[in-house]
Amino acid sequence: MTAQAIVKFDNVIKKFGEFTAVEKVDFEIGRGEFLAIMGSSGCGKTTTLRMLAGLEDPTHGNIYLDGERVNGKATWNRDTPMVWQSLALFPFLTVRENVEFSLKMRGVGRAERAERADKWLEKMQITEFAKRNISQLSGGQRQRVALARALVTEPKILLLDEPLSALDAHLKVRMQAVLSNLQKDLGITFVYVTHSMSEAFSMADRVVIMSRGRIEQIGTPVEIYREPHNRFVAEFLGSANIFDGVIEGAASDGAGRRVNFEGGSTFISESELNGRPQGDAVTFIVSAENMHLSPADSGQEGVLATVVGEEFVGATAMVFLETETGQELKVQKSHDELTKLDSHPGSKLV
Ligand code: ATP
Repeated sequence: MTAQAIVKFDNVIKKFGEFTAVEKVDFEIGRGEFLAIMGSSGCGKTTTLRMLAGLEDPTHGNIYLDGERVNGKATWNRDTPMVWQSLALFPFLTVRENVEFSLKMRGVGRAERAERADKWLEKMQITEFAKRNISQLSGGQRQRVALARALVTEPKILLLDEPLSALDAHLKVRMQAVLSNLQKDLGITFVYVTHSMSEAFSMADRVVIMSRGRIEQIGTPVEIYREPHNRFVAEFLGSANIFDGVIEGAASDGAGRRVNFEGGSTFISESELNGRPQGDAVTFIVSAENMHLSPADSGQEGVLATVVGEEFVGATAMVFLETETGQELKVQKSHDELTKLDSHPGSKLV
């Protein structure tokens, strides 16, 4: 475990009977990091989080928390509070009583409880609601109570399981900013489970992408976006283009070789081809922003495609094209570049 890490999953497997929910998960979480675990329903992200919280025990492998192996250690003996989608607030207690709850459980005296609760009510801007019941609060206010309740013990790490998924779109974006700023101000490690790419990519320092119990890729949002490691990640992101090709020519000391794919070919460097033999099937993934576009008569090699639509994305546009073999391509370019290319639906580009 590296010195900067607060959590280490060491080859962790979780089985429920014969079913493997989490398969050989191996990664570290840095101290003070905002890490998102993302993937579609059933991929094992909640189970991974629950093992860190001590709500499930790994079937194999080890989990380390702040240098200590915590397999088998009960959840109430770990300092890993969790904020749930349902929030699990106590409906018959006031806001203040909810926030004070875990301090009371730990035997903290009345005066200190009040003082610490005051601090967190204020930080979360809910002081004015302290005497209200949970049922008298809006969705966003409840979120703030749940955060105050989890943070009042000043843990080193906070676990969040889809905390925003019940909110409407507008509030969700506002709460993302609240969470993101809070995490930076406090310097606490956040581990955030979500199926939403926009949530994960807008808040997290690093993202873990899971599918069928396995980690597909770990990296910063920019790294993952620019260089999805495999077909699954590329398809999940939805903004990358996938080409299946066959290598032409035998490996040599040359700069690279041609790879032929349906509807065109391209030159790939020898270092990327990694000495693979002639005739080998290869897949290459190119993010929308790394694709080049040229007029069809420019003499550039590549694949001929027709523009079928464009979508405005702030300072850029996403251009949708279709190749002659029916493959859909996505290319992200600045408006200036597209004007120069005279790109419009029906344009033929390579
Ligand atoms: P979701 O986004 O739907 O919550 P998830 O990625 O968080 O999905 P998990 O809750 O971790 O997925 O579940 C992973 C797999 O393990 C699922 O197929 C689920 O049905 C199964 N699973 C989870 N808990 C149990 C359990 N207690 N007993 C049996 N199977 C379980």
